[in-house]
Amino acid sequence: MRPTEDTYRHKGLRKALVEQVRSKGITDESVLDAILAVPRHFFLDSAFDNVAYEDRAFPIAEGQTISHPYTVAYQTQLLQVKPFMRVLEIGTGSAFQACVLAEMKAMVFSIERQKQLFEDNRNFPFLRNYPSLRLFFGDGFQGLPTYGPFDRVLVTAGAPNIPEKLVEQLKPGGMMVIPVNDGEAQRMMRLTKRTDGTLDEERFDTFHFVPMLEGKR
Ligand code: SAH
Repeated sequence: MRPTEDTYRHKGLRKALVEQVRSKGITDESVLDAILAVPRHFFLDSAFDNVAYEDRAFPIAEGQTISHPYTVAYQTQLLQVKPFMRVLEIGTGSAFQACVLAEMKAMVFSIERQKQLFEDNRNFPFLRNYPSLRLFFGDGFQGLPTYGPFDRVLVTAGAPNIPEKLVEQLKPGGMMVIPVNDGEAQRMMRLTKRTDGTLDEERFDTFHFVPMLEGKR
């Protein structure tokens, strides 16, 4: 069961979490405000109520995870989201990251390859607070050609490579943030598409993500 009440205690814990994320080096106030606004405990089973605001990843259905709040903040900060941007997210998972993007007034298109997770989110009433968030069941390697091109692409699973179709669906001047396999971990990368179609690549810290897998299931 999901909790549905956002109490003063939860709000207090959320404020403390935001300060913790800030102390780890996140400086973008629009990102911190969004983390403060989204009740993370709603995205977890009520069994996790006491720990939902710790900076940890937690299991959701189908062996998948809700990312660390710090990781969500880190990726979102790198993405430089502005209101009304079209943002494609690969790996809806718990939908927490998608709501953070929607909270920043982006138009969010999020794809999940696991049917069960997709269905769980369709039956998650809190998501109706974000009419600019649209969920899709599909393989993120394919992107969403009919909804593109996108200002931003965010991959939230560990990618074996940089998926060509996602690069194609990026607008000139657009950015993709993607954790790419690097040994046992993933290297966070930001790719900016130049007007001539070539990519400017920047490398950041390493993280651990669940794998980005081909096909649906
Ligand atoms: N953004 C999520 C993180 C979930 S973990 C959150 O905020 O909770 C990564 C998710 O990516 C998992 O749910 C996994 O099933 C999904 N995934 C992995 N490969 C994928 C692919 N090719 N297309 C779409 N989703 C994928």
